Amino acid sequence: MGVLPRVAVTEGARIPTWFGVGGGADRLAHPETPEQVRECLELDPGAKVLGDGANLLVCDEGVAELVIDLKNPGFRGWEIDDATGEVRAKAGADLARLINECVRRGLGGLEALAGVPATLGGAVVMNAGGAFGEIGQFVTAVHAMDRAGRQVTVGRPAIDFGYRRSGLSGLVILGVDLQLKHDDRATLRQRHLEVMEYKRDSQPLKANSAGCCFKNPTLTQEVKELGERGAPGQRVSAGMLIDRAGLKGLRVGGAVVSERHANFLVPEAGATATDVISLMREVERRVRERFGVTLEREVVVWERSGGG
Ligand SMILES: Cc1cc2nc3c(=O)[nH]c(=O)nc-3n(C[C@H](O)[C@H](O)[C@H](O)COP(=O)(O)OP(=O)(O)OC[C@H]3O[C@@H](n4cnc5c(N)ncnc54)[C@H](O)[C@@H]3O)c2cc1C
Repeated sequence: MGVLPRVAVTEGARIPTWFGVGGGADRLAHPETPEQVRECLELDPGAKVLGDGANLLVCDEGVAELVIDLKNPGFRGWEIDDATGEVRAKAGADLARLINECVRRGLGGLEALAGVPATLGGAVVMNAGGAFGEIGQFVTAVHAMDRAGRQVTVGRPAIDFGYRRSGLSGLVILGVDLQLKHDDRATLRQRHLEVMEYKRDSQPLKANSAGCCFKNPTLTQEVKELGERGAPGQRVSAGMLIDRAGLKGLRVGGAVVSERHANFLVPEAGATATDVISLMREVERRVRERFGVTLEREVVVWERSGGG
């Protein structure tokens, strides 16, 4: 048996995130094969997994755990069966590229996620989606590694997809199988454009952020101020609550609540991750005070002491 190449590890590396603030990783690993992911988990069973960093805020102190970067060539490919509409893709595949490819081949479904920056693995862990659908609708199986280094396949019925959750976050997702539907190419292209335009019109996509910072809460008690929308059991928009609490433009240090979409927190030049975390806490406090509603974070925060 030959000697396997050891996983490349960079010490003291920056963690690229869409927020563009925060600290780095003491050790950032760049595996190219499942065997090298196993090696990462031997080095640190509590290792953290990095996708595209589009839903991630790293604290200013950075993280001590090994960070596994899955955006390496060995984890980016896919195979598409045009006849059946089955897609087998690796976890580090760029979601936007995969959507383009599927639209080009006349395979529909994923265009509902146009404009969501993500790796496929990150999108599945978060069950990313929005007004037009969620990725979980198309997943038939997830191929992953558990913390003991065992490769597992989780079939769709065993995956607990819900609103921005999958129950898979303890695993390292290595690949995803999807089932898409044949559709007319021109219709798909049109739908793809419409979803992109909807996002462009409603969200500040060019600013640094992690998209929506908070999940849309389900009300546990009546909120009179919201009229019919305020009945218990209703899911309401977190952005609407933040806006109606008068928090657009609220600032802590260099972090500000976007004027364009109140659920986007944007770090301006010179902002720190601490500013963003303090602003999150302030928004949570004021929304709780005003409406009695507790906002849950959609953004994953990596703290030095663990968490996330
Ligand atoms: C401008 C903008 C717009 C956005 N719009 C939307 C939207 O419309 N809908 C939506 O749902 N989200 C949206 N988001 C958030 C983000 O795009 C999604 O949450 C996306 O799924 C994050 O994927 P990622 O690869 O960047 O994951 P990361 O941010 O890198 O990681 C997120 C979490 O997933 C874990 N993770 C990542 N990859 C793996 C893996 N292979 N195995 C195990 N765990 C993993 C990480 O450890 C972390 O806990 C937006 C973000 C931005 C910046």
